[in-house]
Amino acid sequence: MKNKLMYLILHCTATPEGRLVTKDDIIHWHTDPKSKGGRGWNRPGYRDMIYLDGQLVNLIPFNSDDFVDLWEISNGVAGLNGNSAHIVYVGGMDASNKLPKDTRTEKQLDTMEVYVKYMVKCHPDILVLGHNEAPNAHGKACPSFDVAPYLRSIGIPEVNIYQKPGAASLSQTNANTSPEDIQEA
Ligand SMILES: [Zn+2]
Repeated sequence: MKNKLMYLILHCTATPEGRLVTKDDIIHWHTDPKSKGGRGWNRPGYRDMIYLDGQLVNLIPFNSDDFVDLWEISNGVAGLNGNSAHIVYVGGMDASNKLPKDTRTEKQLDTMEVYVKYMVKCHPDILVLGHNEAPNAHGKACPSFDVAPYLRSIGIPEVNIYQKPGAASLSQTNANTSPEDIQEA
């Protein structure tokens, strides 16, 4: 059983400006047992990652169809993992690690633009949003920038820009979800 891919959710690693973070770091942080300081998940929270130098790195393999197979799930936002793809850029905090900050480098901006446009081209119905726009974002600042204005600035069609609803909420993953859908990065 699988769900249609409905959302592309943008994240930051919430690490200080300029600090190098790699795929291996993320995998350790999310999948190491809690006894070793990790979260103890069976998979990382992001499907893809944008390094400081703009390199795009895949953490969880995926195919290009319109569905999220169980093996494609990443744990980015609790309740929305079964029908979302999660992309993270390295950064999102100021150098003192105290305040959220849009720290995207020019190279990261280039890669993110290409990535978002590619996803919209492959999945014409997809809605793009920031982690902080999800109903269960728990006040998180992630990804430390306003996603909708950013998407407009790079020419993403309005139909692909998630509008924060008044009463309605994002359609939650149905019963086909995995147990990991209670987890979020
Ligand atoms: Zn996030």
